[in-house]
Amino acid sequence: MLTYIAASKIYPVTSAPLENGVLALEPDGTISAIYSAEAFARLNKPVVFFEGAIIPGMVNTHCHLELSHLRGKIAQHTGLPAFVEQVIKFRGFDEEAVLQAMEAADQEMRDNGIIAVGDISNLAASRPVKLGSDLYYYTFVEAMGFNPARASEIYTAAAALKVSFEPLDASVVPHAPYSVSTELFGLIKAGADAGNSLQTMHSQETAAENEFFESKTGAFLQLYNFLGLDLSFYMPSGKSSLQTILPKLSNGKALLVHNTESNLSDIGYAKQQHADLFWCLCPNANLFIENRLPDVQLLRDQGLKITLGTDSLASNAALSILKEMQTLQEKKAVDFDTVLCWATYNGAEFLGIDARYGSIEVGKNPGIVLLEHFEQGKITDSTTVKRLF
Ligand SMILES: [Zn+2]
Repeated sequence: MLTYIAASKIYPVTSAPLENGVLALEPDGTISAIYSAEAFARLNKPVVFFEGAIIPGMVNTHCHLELSHLRGKIAQHTGLPAFVEQVIKFRGFDEEAVLQAMEAADQEMRDNGIIAVGDISNLAASRPVKLGSDLYYYTFVEAMGFNPARASEIYTAAAALKVSFEPLDASVVPHAPYSVSTELFGLIKAGADAGNSLQTMHSQETAAENEFFESKTGAFLQLYNFLGLDLSFYMPSGKSSLQTILPKLSNGKALLVHNTESNLSDIGYAKQQHADLFWCLCPNANLFIENRLPDVQLLRDQGLKITLGTDSLASNAALSILKEMQTLQEKKAVDFDTVLCWATYNGAEFLGIDARYGSIEVGKNPGIVLLEHFEQGKITDSTTVKRLF
């Protein structure tokens, strides 16, 4: 038994938008057929019409579910090193409160039309929430440690944590250029290459990160002082963080997150160095922490594969990919068709789930999302999201 639904506009993402198009859906939401208004009229079948735009379920490629209890607790516009310090100070929360916040965050993402999530984890705390969720989760177990002497111990713990997430998909990944020693990068790369596993890393989120690599100066020195780390062994490379670190990353599919300070020279280098990079933008988190945005036009001009992420509720008021799209539409003049592809298809491709998710195509079951109060191809403050299937 098929259900027929129509909308003012359907955005399949991988093909041109349809005015008053119709979808034939199986009971589980699998798309059985896609009709133009004219073709469907000839079938003479009953249809449910929705005012608004139908899009596939959205993909959040960068989240930290386990920081959900920090919503509203962290000061804005402090810059990244001070933000990291604040998050560390808030560790050791009541376990039950943390679990409840994660469950609420999972529900919030579902309500906001998100169907798949790439989630950074430092603990196993999010496992029960992910197992009980109908959203798809890929877990990135984050390894962090700048002290080379501890590399082996840190990697072993991260690898064990990855196993504890089974049967969920997971891999061990580096946190960021400034928080992972060369030795630890080596272990992560060997593990990723052996397991052919997805990689991701926070990258060029702040100017201080480049300063630390170029000249061993800037705000990260204060952070290491706070963490009590002796940096006497560390020699600056004289190059930007991305140009220093990229050779240490696995050559497999990888997602660089933030890219706020990435310039033409970094991107040119990255294209030469790595053949399978995706670039994740988290504009609302960037505005929260650094009050800056990446050079989105440069990333577009360079033909990069862009995805979107919310980052965590520690640095965002909501877990809504639609809100990230709206920020890019308003502050960077990105048109809806382009930003929709970033929000759906590109994220699904990165996570390796594009056989099912990311676009409206026959045979896929991508989640069917209705945007109401979506006027003339623009997301507004009154645009709402409804999950239809
Ligand atoms: Zn993050």
